[in-house]
Amino acid sequence: MKCGECGGTMRYAQVTLDERFGGVRFVIEGIPALVCDRCGTREVSAPLLEAFEETAAQLEREVAKLKFSERPLELAGRVSEG
Ligand SMILES: [Zn+2]
Repeated sequence: MKCGECGGTMRYAQVTLDERFGGVRFVIEGIPALVCDRCGTREVSAPLLEAFEETAAQLEREVAKLKFSERPLELAGRVSEG
């Protein structure tokens, strides 16, 4: 498969998506994508990208709720490590 930007070769690789939504940063590793070996253009499957954006938007809404809450820790749950 050829790169639409520069005509280089697209290869499968795992990439990290790093996006900001409303001041909240989302980093997701291990996303399969096609990456151009010449210019670095990345292509992620549309359903995956949609799922990422949907999830990020949902999290952003929850974060916004807590920002406006006076006592956000009343809603606290545990975040597991690793
Ligand atoms: Zn390219």
